[in-house]
Amino acid sequence: EVKNEGKAGYKFFAQQMTERSLKRLQIVNELKEVIEAQSFDEQFTMHYQPILASNGKVNNFKIIGVEALIRWKNPRLGNVSPAEFIPIAEESHLINYFNKWIIDRTLGDFNEISKFHNNGLYLSINVSPLGLKSEDFARSLQNALLENHLNPRNIQLEITETSLMDEGTSIHKNISALVGMGVELAIDDFGTGYASLNYLQNIPAQTIKIDRSYISKINSDVKNKDMIRAILAMGKSLNKNMVAEGVETSEHLEFLRQNDCKQFQGYLFSKPIDVDSLIDIFSKHNMEITLP
Ligand code: C2E
Ligand code: MG
Ligand code: MG
Ligand code: MG
Repeated sequence: EVKNEGKAGYKFFAQQMTERSLKRLQIVNELKEVIEAQSFDEQFTMHYQPILASNGKVNNFKIIGVEALIRWKNPRLGNVSPAEFIPIAEESHLINYFNKWIIDRTLGDFNEISKFHNNGLYLSINVSPLGLKSEDFARSLQNALLENHLNPRNIQLEITETSLMDEGTSIHKNISALVGMGVELAIDDFGTGYASLNYLQNIPAQTIKIDRSYISKINSDVKNKDMIRAILAMGKSLNKNMVAEGVETSEHLEFLRQNDCKQFQGYLFSKPIDVDSLIDIFSKHNMEITLP
């Protein structure tokens, strides 16, 4: 395309590149400023998105977990999506300065949330590859759990296939320590990386989250349906909990249920919401979401 448009096309391309790297630089600078001033609380919050399981009824689902998702509102950049800034924080090696804040904040929130329910709700936290690589990750999580009087068995960490492919020993040390503590592991965005079947069988992750890109194509791409069926069948034979991410429509849900998927997350049920809104659902609706 660029070639056909000739010089003008190239110019446009170059301009886009410049805008992209400028935005990137701004993000890095703003992140550094927050870290230096330790002013995380002023710009960052955590939202929580329910993860649901069928309740045996057609339209009624039970909230079994919540995924913590970071939100950033910057005075100069406005709202910046984590899909944009987390990879930048990772590549610029700033992410580890955020891990402690994220863990402390989510565990504090979970402690608060726990006053409004009495079942085994779990908290699912995204951990970036660098986080899992840092030597004291497991130990500092353990300290934070103790400080917040939380049971490690109610905590799930979402890790990606990519971080599992890393050969480094500290990742494997952290994983063994975490599993030893009783923390659950989930493979996030499954289907976008390169985890081999052999790897999946050996990794101590009980849960696999099927990436949203598969779910969003359910109605437009026939081959994609076969892929999801195959992923679900594989999960079943490996005895994993399979969670479908990004369930947006009742058609998505219907297809997934027909193929024996039992756990769901997506806008059809709830967007990520703040702590107060979550507590509201818990108090008013008894941990259940009923679809219209
Ligand atoms: P993820 O872990 O795969 O999280 C799921 C993303 O899908 C979230 O985007 C969520 O808001 C979005 N989502 C959920 N249901 C639907 C749906 O039905 N439709 C659509 N279109 N989207 C849906 P979000 O919050 O923008 O986060 C993007 C990514 O940023 C996350 O993907 C995760 O990789 C990363 N991230 C977010 N918070 C954290 C964090 O605290 N720590 C780390 N390390 N990464 C984070
Ligand atoms: Mg996730
Ligand atoms: Mg995901
Ligand atoms: Mg994702």
